[in-house]
Amino acid sequence: MAQKIIIVGAGIIGASLAFHLSRAGAEVTVFEATQPASAATGRSFGWINASFYANPAHHRLRAASMQAWHRQSALLPEAAPNWQGCLWWEEEGAGLSRKAADLAALGYPVDALTGAEVAALEPSLAQPPAQALRFPTEGAVEPAALTRALLSASGAKVHAGLFVKSLIEKSGQITGVRTAIGPFAADHVILATGTATPALLTPLGLDLPMLTRPGVLLHTKPVPWRLHHIIVTPHQEIRQDAAGHILAPAAANHQADTTETVPDPHALIDATLSRLRALFNAELALDRYVIGYRPVPGDGLPVVGLARAGLSLAVTHSGVTLAAGIAEALTAEITGQGDSPLLADFRPARLLSAR
Ligand SMILES: Cc1cc2nc3c(=O)[nH]c(=O)nc-3n(C[C@H](O)[C@H](O)[C@H](O)COP(=O)(O)OP(=O)(O)OC[C@H]3O[C@@H](n4cnc5c(N)ncnc54)[C@H](O)[C@@H]3O)c2cc1C
Repeated sequence: MAQKIIIVGAGIIGASLAFHLSRAGAEVTVFEATQPASAATGRSFGWINASFYANPAHHRLRAASMQAWHRQSALLPEAAPNWQGCLWWEEEGAGLSRKAADLAALGYPVDALTGAEVAALEPSLAQPPAQALRFPTEGAVEPAALTRALLSASGAKVHAGLFVKSLIEKSGQITGVRTAIGPFAADHVILATGTATPALLTPLGLDLPMLTRPGVLLHTKPVPWRLHHIIVTPHQEIRQDAAGHILAPAAANHQADTTETVPDPHALIDATLSRLRALFNAELALDRYVIGYRPVPGDGLPVVGLARAGLSLAVTHSGVTLAAGIAEALTAEITGQGDSPLLADFRPARLLSAR
């Protein structure tokens, strides 16, 4: 009989898990409190990369997930990332050389470019840098559209607008979830609930520390010129989507952002727009901005795997980069194909404590 799996949360992590678990033969039901991709996923910049990382194990997981993205795209070509590559000049001089050497030592593809080479690759830049690194294997997706595509292709039963109130526990084993329309039973429950995960763990007597990491993402009105790469300047990342909008997180180094509050988003937006106008020497008008809360576990690293018998967690920042890899590896574990060495450093036990 097919294994019955409940996934709580339909962001990119829950949707990716639904896709992979369904393909592996499980009977999957997804519960989403509001609409798919309505939380962090729908407010994300969408960059897939392993050039940002906290330690070698984190880099390995990110690089492996980039490979998993390629395997997933072969199965679902309509949800394939745009592997456009990244031009990076967040640091210059010694910092840039160190970044290139560190990544090359990890076996990550990286080229050093002169300012003239950058200008030739990106003619729309009015202020090209003196030098930059190119990470040719990186890409980006539109996370909300991709989440919907994965859910739809999974064939999973999706309950949108249905909040999971609590988990059902019998003799130390999680056996299902409680909702407003009644209980649902499962062989295994996965929390892909992002920042809301601690609220479902507390009644079990478990504490998962999380950091508060808001991010502001602006979208300009569409422009006709084309930015070919994802760009990382000392001030923020920038990319253009297929419809022509320029997207930019309004913070430097947004992936490792340490901001805890956003007291005045308008000031951030104005400063970012001014920098973008100068960088491209173009009239750029604000289309919209969003504030999203990144799901960042207490030590900044992913939390993936078994938390209690019958219950797994999949909670992570950089969830767009990591979605395909985490979904592949956790699916293999839950369907009995053995533990993934890639996840060994990211187990819930290192952070979970009894209340
Ligand atoms: C501004 C910004 C920029 C980012 N840029 C990048 C980037 O460039 N690259 C990258 O890799 N990552 C990036 N991230 C991080 C990435 O977007 C997140 O790690 C990822 O979206 C997390 O996905 P998720 O599915 O775990 O969580 P979420 O998208 O937050 O989804 C969790 C879902 O669970 C649902 N839920 C919660 N509790 C319940 C409940 N009790 N019952 C039912 N449903 C529930 C919520 O409604 C929500 O839809 C960025 C994030 C932000 C905010």
